[in-house]
Amino acid sequence: MGIPHFLAIPFPILGHMNPLLQFSQVLAKYGCKITFLCSDENYNRLMKTASFGNESQINLVSLPDGVDPEDDRKDQAKVILTTRTAMLAKLPKLIDEINALDSDKKVSCMIVTKNMGWALDVGLKMGIKGALFWPSSATSLASFNCMQRLIDEGIIDSQSGLPTRKHEIQLSSNLPMMEAATMPWYCLDNPFFFLNMMQEMQNLNLGEWWLCNTTFDLEAGALSLSPKLLPIGPLMASEHNTSSLWQEDRTCLQWLDQQQPQSVIYVSFGSMVSTKPNQFKELALGLDLLNMPFLWVVRKDNGIEENNEYPDEFRGIQGKIFSWAPQKKILSHPAIACFISHCGWNSTIEGVYNGVPFLCWPFCSDQLMNMTYLCDVWKVGLGFEKDENGVISREEIKKKVEQLLQDEEIKVRSLKLMEKVIKNKEGDKNLKKFIKWAKE
Ligand code: UDP
Repeated sequence: MGIPHFLAIPFPILGHMNPLLQFSQVLAKYGCKITFLCSDENYNRLMKTASFGNESQINLVSLPDGVDPEDDRKDQAKVILTTRTAMLAKLPKLIDEINALDSDKKVSCMIVTKNMGWALDVGLKMGIKGALFWPSSATSLASFNCMQRLIDEGIIDSQSGLPTRKHEIQLSSNLPMMEAATMPWYCLDNPFFFLNMMQEMQNLNLGEWWLCNTTFDLEAGALSLSPKLLPIGPLMASEHNTSSLWQEDRTCLQWLDQQQPQSVIYVSFGSMVSTKPNQFKELALGLDLLNMPFLWVVRKDNGIEENNEYPDEFRGIQGKIFSWAPQKKILSHPAIACFISHCGWNSTIEGVYNGVPFLCWPFCSDQLMNMTYLCDVWKVGLGFEKDENGVISREEIKKKVEQLLQDEEIKVRSLKLMEKVIKNKEGDKNLKKFIKWAKE
């Protein structure tokens, strides 16, 4: 067999599309052929914003995701169900059509992200092998894979996933002890996500490999928990930074060029989560109190709107606010001093890759677990304490940012971890192993 032809199928949200598109670009660099399947909606967005470095190697195709225009796209449970129903019915025909275009280079391997495990089943029935590309940590995937065991051992409830007692959970002896509440299935207090993942893990087990954007240095303990887990990170080594669904405002880079080295606080909570109005206010006033330059991403007009209003007394004179910024370029800029982050896995890896110390502000899903790694395992960040109303106050923000910036040990550890991650050669070796397997 010649070059492998991958059919990449992400769940239609930015947190899955972007990393899989980036991974597809890496595969294309290795000479692989890629067909990238997105929802019609994301296809139209990509056509507006992305320019592909390897046009001939990545072919975009689309199918409807079944979400009606009047439906709420923020309702993840709904999107999971409609995507499965709408795409499942049309995928076999689409694969036949793709194969008919070039019968020498038929689809040889599928790569899916979370919630798209059903496609692996479709593929296997058509004689196409499959793999999972996991856009979060290996620890979160390993913990999903342990759910049945935790139920059997009476540690979590079989219907809700909630801890049966107030437990700390240690998935294996070489993993950190974690509060049960930090397990990634306690998302949005909705048992749907837990029950859905119980089903999804069965589908994902159909994949031969579970590719993770991580390294042994970062997550050795978790990676030893399943032979399927294959660390292929760090993936941001790719020069191509074209895979954003949303238009990036690049003027912030010129602004950063004018700032002193390690003087700017970068604040971003990723593509999904939003701060409540009172918390938004404290954050704004905390940034004012700090009296330092800051670059703050406040999303708007990106499908998921933040409706927060700036408090009247907010001055923000030293800062810049952008609705969507080129984050990887920002984090690699010498002017950045620290990253106030929601600890999404991509943000985590991007910050670590650039040796930037973290202020951790997790909301849900795997973000709490990622904070455990940043603060307790790698020790490159600090967390915020909430007050009696569950709010992180402006004074707390000022205190922790100052504490972090004065902590020389955290700075040294961040740089050491960065060096280890950059020097890692394992990811590349594993990637070649994966491509060879896909060819066979
Ligand atoms: N990101 C970006 N511009 C922004 C904010 C975020 O390009 O202004 C990117 C960031 O580089 C990362 C992704 O969006 O790759 C966010 O992914 P993450 O896993 O951190 O969080 P999620 O959005 O899935 O909650």
